[in-house]
Amino acid sequence: MGISMSLHRGPTRTMTEHHIADERLAEYSKGVLGEPQLREVEEHLLICERCRARLTEFDNEWGLNG
Ligand SMILES: [Zn+2]
Repeated sequence: MGISMSLHRGPTRTMTEHHIADERLAEYSKGVLGEPQLREVEEHLLICERCRARLTEFDNEWGLNG
């Protein structure tokens, strides 16, 4: 009875679409993001320079409007 593992082979996709959404970054910047998502955003920011740069843009935006 051989068990076929071929079903485990899925299509290889790039994982680059896991960036943080604009509105989520905005919420994080305003400090209104809840705990579960807050963790995700912070963990992503640690490894993603691009999203960190976008976050500083949001920070500047609120600063100017304040
Ligand atoms: Zn990112």
